[in-house]
Amino acid sequence: MLLRRPALLAFSLAFAAAAQAAPAPAAAPQEVLAAIAADVDPQALHATVAALVGFGTRHTLSDTASGTRGIGAARRWAQARFEAISKDCGGCLEIVTPTQTVTGPRVPQPTAIVDVVAIQRGTSDPGRVVAITGHIDSRVSDAMDATHDAPGANDDASGVAAVLEAARVLSKRRFGATIVYGVLSGEEQNLYGGRLLAEYAKAQGWRVEADLNNDIVGNTEGGDGVRDNSFVRVFSEGTKALETPAQAGKRRYNGGELDSPSRNLARFIAALGERTLTNFRVAMVYRTDRFNRGGDQVPFLEAGFPAVRLTEPHENYARQHQDLRSDGGVDYGDTLEHVDFPYLAQVTRLNAITLAALANAPAPPQGVAIAGAVTPNTELSWTPQPGVAHHRVWWRDTTAPQWQKSRDVVGADKAVLRDVSIDDFFFGVSAVSADGWESPVVFPGDPGAF
Ligand SMILES: [Zn+2]
Repeated sequence: MLLRRPALLAFSLAFAAAAQAAPAPAAAPQEVLAAIAADVDPQALHATVAALVGFGTRHTLSDTASGTRGIGAARRWAQARFEAISKDCGGCLEIVTPTQTVTGPRVPQPTAIVDVVAIQRGTSDPGRVVAITGHIDSRVSDAMDATHDAPGANDDASGVAAVLEAARVLSKRRFGATIVYGVLSGEEQNLYGGRLLAEYAKAQGWRVEADLNNDIVGNTEGGDGVRDNSFVRVFSEGTKALETPAQAGKRRYNGGELDSPSRNLARFIAALGERTLTNFRVAMVYRTDRFNRGGDQVPFLEAGFPAVRLTEPHENYARQHQDLRSDGGVDYGDTLEHVDFPYLAQVTRLNAITLAALANAPAPPQGVAIAGAVTPNTELSWTPQPGVAHHRVWWRDTTAPQWQKSRDVVGADKAVLRDVSIDDFFFGVSAVSADGWESPVVFPGDPGAF
């Protein structure tokens, strides 16, 4: 039988103080997020995808001089869209075009890879960056075919549409952290544009806390015959790409294989979607990407930046990387009529509210540490940080996918959870602002550090 003290007495005075000094209820953030979600427009998404399909092909090796066909015209169109959005917000977006001439896999001749990137600088901590990305390049059956029509409506004009619409909606507001909107090139050849933006971010000294990579986010009619518009998959790596052998050894023994910052970013997205959106949910997938496949979130992970991939639930392989044709009664090709714009709007809402919530919240806690072996209690500590009203200590069963229990901690940089055994749960800490914006949860030590 349980012989523990009653739960109300089990926490230190810091927790009691939390009840009295707690900030305003979280209604304010939820109102902001609901307004942002409501502003996302399926028709704007349709206009973007239709415009991009109209460039015929957007293959990385395609024409760059034409004003109407090829990757060059498409990139300039995206840049013009960012410029128009910026004009509407009084010049709030800075537009840059990181460029690199590459030769390598699937790029036999020196070719300019050009990303089109809009930067909405944060008001209080512009070095903190949260990003959304999609890729503008497209392909057909032969990855080297740069001339035939490659509409790429779903892969990945849908992702680019989400990026541009997030920029349109979020540029009407101001945020503490910087939001970066990335339209990337060269994904189908070898993730060149993702690598280019990750390197650009490093060179700028950006502290990237999240990249939401949207790739194949608009089709709801699966190749398996299932039609489903009710959820999106969010893929996240379990352990860090940059983990050292020593860190891996410690993590293998004590746990942390489920708690990389990318995984806790996925949990953040799932919980936020649950609270904010209607008839829409997140399915977390505990993988970096789909089996043996990749995307532009991977170079971010390799650069040490938390990143996830969003993709529709039931892919249709007759509509990806296919020459436009009819064969055996099946229509092949990634065409406009197969994009479900109300669904794409839901995915875009999830992105927009995630970016807003992250950019309004304090930075994820740093220096999170844990102790308590051979005691009945668990102690968590963290480095003091500016802009934080209080911290929130979280824990969950070791087999649970989502954080389950929490206690607020005011005016302290550590917390003792009395009679909560360090052996039996996974723990984490988030930071909360005075107006109720909460950061992602940070798992202690190297496995979870943002
Ligand atoms: Zn793609």
